[in-house]
Amino acid sequence: MSDRKFDLIVLGAGTAGCLASYTAAKAGLEKIALIERKSKEKIGKKVCGDGIGTKHIQFLKEKGLPIQEQETIYNRSKTAHLISPDGEKDYALDIKGQLAIIDRHKLGQSLLKGAIDKGVQLFPNTKFKTLKRREDSIKVHCSKKGADSLTFIAPLLIDATGINSLIREDSAIFGDFGKLQDNEQYYCYREICKLGKFPESYLDSAVFKFSNAITKGGYMWFFHRKNHEFNLGTGIPKSWSKELSPKMIYQNHMLSRVRREKVIGFGGGFVPTRHPLPSHVKDNIILIGDAGLIVNPLHGGGLGSSIASGYISGKIAAKQIPAEAVKEEDLWPFNLQLLERYGLRYSILDLYRILLQNMPDKELNKAFKEGYLPLGKIFYAREYDLLMKLSRKLGEIWKELPSKRLNLLPTYLERINNLTKSYPVSPQELNHWAQKYEQTYLDYESKISLTK
Ligand SMILES: Cc1cc2nc3c(=O)[nH]c(=O)nc-3n(C[C@H](O)[C@H](O)[C@H](O)COP(=O)(O)OP(=O)(O)OC[C@H]3O[C@@H](n4cnc5c(N)ncnc54)[C@H](O)[C@@H]3O)c2cc1C
Repeated sequence: MSDRKFDLIVLGAGTAGCLASYTAAKAGLEKIALIERKSKEKIGKKVCGDGIGTKHIQFLKEKGLPIQEQETIYNRSKTAHLISPDGEKDYALDIKGQLAIIDRHKLGQSLLKGAIDKGVQLFPNTKFKTLKRREDSIKVHCSKKGADSLTFIAPLLIDATGINSLIREDSAIFGDFGKLQDNEQYYCYREICKLGKFPESYLDSAVFKFSNAITKGGYMWFFHRKNHEFNLGTGIPKSWSKELSPKMIYQNHMLSRVRREKVIGFGGGFVPTRHPLPSHVKDNIILIGDAGLIVNPLHGGGLGSSIASGYISGKIAAKQIPAEAVKEEDLWPFNLQLLERYGLRYSILDLYRILLQNMPDKELNKAFKEGYLPLGKIFYAREYDLLMKLSRKLGEIWKELPSKRLNLLPTYLERINNLTKSYPVSPQELNHWAQKYEQTYLDYESKISLTK
């Protein structure tokens, strides 16, 4: 069994992995291995809400990826509807066609083609098993269907294996900070089906329905893709998965609102829903996409951030190699760039996620009705400064309300804001900072926790 030597190993050919390998190859790296457990044809197939901001599709095209927009985008939602638990308040927000509902498989295949055309070497049906870290390289062991195991060596590794990343969960590498807790991920059930009857307003909209009694801080979604075909589903915190099933919730609380004519596809999956990791790099490893838990914590949307983190990591990889040995300091710019792009905003949004997981429906209905928790505006405050400005304005109102969940939120928003603004400039200061960062979320949660 001989070792295959590369400049860069990318594990996982999902959105993040394809972007990372494509970007690194485009920037001049010649020997890139893209290792994927699925067959080539199945790459890009994933149970998903299939919603992505149109600006990300634009970004992919600008970077030269072969995206056929007409064939990839089914629909552009003009409005987002956020519906209160009692159904009495429908908060409609004009999103000006910014959310595209796409053919996920087609997008995945286009990204893969982009990478292969740039010279990336794909190893399909090849499953990453373990790694050995050496002074100046990483050795990766994989199994392959019906063949001997394979080994790969490179000075740098990018892990894009999704939510269940073995590398992130390995405490010998990422310590305890990489461990994803059950209340930090949603267990989802999703169907794509043709509906015979549904509320008229669902046609041009992305619809989100909230109810803590039903989804425990998760939500239900209805996305129209074309000709009355909908992508619809629900997610609940995994910590509730012994007591509740998202499929049952779907059947009992979503199908009752519509008439289903034909099921086109169905399935389950997990999404991370938490603040970004304190660091996405360790030694000569970078975690990207879901593997790095780089998602919007409010709804688990991670397509846009897997594109961005793939792109940033690919650029950094190409800059580092050829180097004698890649060190954690060399990769630190990944953390800094990601923080600027997503981390600041997502760190704040995670406090809202904790709030929603612990807000009884009675309080949520009141907040919807009286307008002091405008979730739509919070969802769509795309810039960090905008989100902080909105949060501070709301904070003035919350201080006067008889809800300790909301009373406490402004203090924690400022704490997280101060922490993210003083993010370590080098790995040496990380541990102390990370403990304070993680503890801040734990404190807020323990003070407002409803149950688990
Ligand atoms: C039900 C559901 C609905 C969602 N809806 C939306 C939405 O509407 N909008 C949105 O933006 N996001 C949504 N998401 C999240 C989005 O799908 C993810 O954030 C995104 O796919 C992350 O991309 P990724 O490349 O990091 O990971 P993945 O897409 O998970 O790709 C990981 C790749 O690694 C491969 N892999 C895994 N383990 C190994 C291994 N050991 N060896 C080799 N290969 C391996 C996998 O086969 C896969 O190809 C949803 C997720 C779910 C589950």
